Amino acid sequence: MRVVIVGNGPAGVEVARLLSREHEVVLVEKETVPHYSKPMLSHFIAGLVEEKRLFPYSPEWYERNGINLLLETEARSVDTSKKILNTDGGELPYDVLILATGARPRLPPVEGKEHFLTLRTFEDAERIKKLLDTEGEMIVVGGGFIGLELAGNLAKRGYKVTVVEKEKGVLGLDEELTGRIVNVLKEAGVEVLLGTSVLKATEDTLLTDKGELKGRLKVCAIGIEPEVSLAKASGIETRRGIVVNRRFETSAKDVYAIGDCAEYNGIICGTAKAAMEHAKVLVNILNGIPDRYLFERRSSIFKFGDFPIAIVGVPRGRGVWLDRETKAFYDGEDVVGVVVLEDMKKAQEWVHHFLEAPPPPEEPPPNPPDPPR
Ligand code: FAD
Repeated sequence: MRVVIVGNGPAGVEVARLLSREHEVVLVEKETVPHYSKPMLSHFIAGLVEEKRLFPYSPEWYERNGINLLLETEARSVDTSKKILNTDGGELPYDVLILATGARPRLPPVEGKEHFLTLRTFEDAERIKKLLDTEGEMIVVGGGFIGLELAGNLAKRGYKVTVVEKEKGVLGLDEELTGRIVNVLKEAGVEVLLGTSVLKATEDTLLTDKGELKGRLKVCAIGIEPEVSLAKASGIETRRGIVVNRRFETSAKDVYAIGDCAEYNGIICGTAKAAMEHAKVLVNILNGIPDRYLFERRSSIFKFGDFPIAIVGVPRGRGVWLDRETKAFYDGEDVVGVVVLEDMKKAQEWVHHFLEAPPPPEEPPPNPPDPPR
């Protein structure tokens, strides 16, 4: 079987690695460098790790694994009836096409947004690192995991960092959990301004509804938009992301979508951990082993400086502290989400607990119906 994959992020490279054992694999990537770790980018910017540690796979690794990696090649459209991927380097016929096109950072719709940098690619990280070396300080807009990882790592190296978040909570969490996380960041030297909206940016200032901040280096980390342009241009159903079912099937026959670009029932997973889990489930399916992905039970682990935190399931609803590190969230009698601070052994136990619970019905309402095949 000839499998063509678009995107060399964690979803694309993992599915390529696993499928190349039995199938012919072509991996199309528009960037110039082989796969790198996005979770390590803020460590690199802060000077905590060297550049080479970001790149786990050399060009020889792809060759050795029989993966035909086409760098600097952009996929433009898919002819889903003839089963051909059109790229700026030519046509690629496929038996199975996997879209792992990821996402791009969002920018706030404010005056002067061109004065923000965003962090998604290695190139972004190099640019930010260079500026940080001259400026020595940074304003981070957004209290999501990317913003807090960056702030935590920079503070660890003694840089001055201010985080501006428009909500009263970070990571979409409640006041108590936010308080615990913000205290740790403050102790590390990060200034955190909650409930503060950005109004305007200039070259050397950030105007908020609470006043003006001085700073030339402003990094915006307010969330992602799934990269759906290829799917859209090819008539494949999209909403915010590329619409998939629990088996990652899209509306086009033999075309699958995984990772940050995939949307199931309004859920965009948005983490490297989930992207790699998607890849494993899809490989089973393509190899004839029945499997599906339980999007509601995804989990993620982040580290803000030296402070690890795990979010398992969906931490919404009635929250109850089970101990100093663990807060569980209930829908009626059922635990639907858990946040664990610091104790990652305990977090792993919750991940297993969630995965071992009885699976939900095949496609419960109000999920979208499986896309037409
Ligand atoms: P991506 O990694 O975005 O890869 C998609 C690839 O597709 C890109 O290389 C892109 O160039 C390519 N592409 C897109 N369109 C085309 C096209 N038309 N033709 C050719 N190529 C194309 N997750 C965690 O779990 N834990 C963390 O601690 C964590 N920290 C993070 C820190 C930072 C700074 C960032 C940016 C992300 C972090 N994440 C973390 C999130 C994680 O990196 C993403 O969820 C993950 O990279 C998604 O993987 P993906 O393969 O779906 O997409």
